[in-house]
Amino acid sequence: MIKNYKIVKDVKEALTYKKQNPQAAFYAGGTEINRLNSSVKIEDAISLEGLGLNKIEEVKDGIKIGSCVTFQQLIESDLVPAYLKEAAMYCASRAVRDMATIGGNLALGADDSYLMPTLLAAKARLLTNGLTDKEVFTEDNLPIREYHMYHKEFSNTLLVAIVLPREERIVLSKRFANTAHSESCVTAAFGAKVEAGLLSEVRIFAAIKGSGIQRFKDAENSIETDSFASKEDVEFAIANATQAVDDYTASAKYKSYITGVAIGDMYAVASEAAKGGK
Ligand SMILES: Cc1cc2nc3c(=O)[nH]c(=O)nc-3n(C[C@H](O)[C@H](O)[C@H](O)COP(=O)(O)OP(=O)(O)OC[C@H]3O[C@@H](n4cnc5c(N)ncnc54)[C@H](O)[C@@H]3O)c2cc1C
Repeated sequence: MIKNYKIVKDVKEALTYKKQNPQAAFYAGGTEINRLNSSVKIEDAISLEGLGLNKIEEVKDGIKIGSCVTFQQLIESDLVPAYLKEAAMYCASRAVRDMATIGGNLALGADDSYLMPTLLAAKARLLTNGLTDKEVFTEDNLPIREYHMYHKEFSNTLLVAIVLPREERIVLSKRFANTAHSESCVTAAFGAKVEAGLLSEVRIFAAIKGSGIQRFKDAENSIETDSFASKEDVEFAIANATQAVDDYTASAKYKSYITGVAIGDMYAVASEAAKGGK
């Protein structure tokens, strides 16, 4: 339960407070922090409200989304692409969508993450701020795959914004759960660029409950070199590469199978679009 709620005037003060109070956590929408059986157990919160991190704007590199933008803001924005609105809608509760933020979702990086697989497939970039050991203020612009790969090392970093690249990409995703409100067993996403009728810069990720967010690099390479003869080959490769465990959401076998089917279907859609030059 939160006992101290620190209001700060700017990002630097937030980071300084966090440095001096490592047990404190940034507080964005609070939906995870206040959730029953939350993964974040804290008494000391640093409010991100009032830091101006809740805007969506067009910038030179693409669409810049402040880390405190809520899921509902994403859905209602004219600037946000349909693929991200679809992922935001995976959160079926309107009440949660009104509070939950994009930055909070990425900071959690949960194995049932609504947004992380899609943003990884989209090759989003992240703008971050931090403080070095000598309290020097740092600003960084990094690919989301780096944030995902070294997630723990970013635990004291403040996510400032997410930038969706301007270049055109096909981005598709699919979530599997018993009901819209149930925890998902698999949320899979596929992203690619179309060049000369072929798929390039392919990114395939899936959040697998109990086993984390996984990347399917071998399948990405095989698609880029046009080595799969059919979508069934993609299904087989992905299902075999999926790491999964049995739990209350589904069996390991089902998770592997459904991840393969989902990615196979997305590959087929993207391949058709590539052939059509779309
Ligand atoms: C009933 C219920 C079901 C849910 N189911 C799911 C689910 O299936 N999938 C899913 O992904 N989420 C789920 N959530 C969790 C949550 O709603 C989302 O993940 C949400 O996006 C978290 O954002 P927030 O702003 O509320 O985060 P908060 O609760 O404010 O914070 C969560 C964590 O992120 C950190 N953080 C927040 N903002 C930043 C930032 N800008 N920079 C660095 N660190 C930051 C906080 O310090 C904290 O550790 C559920 C929540 C509820 C209440």
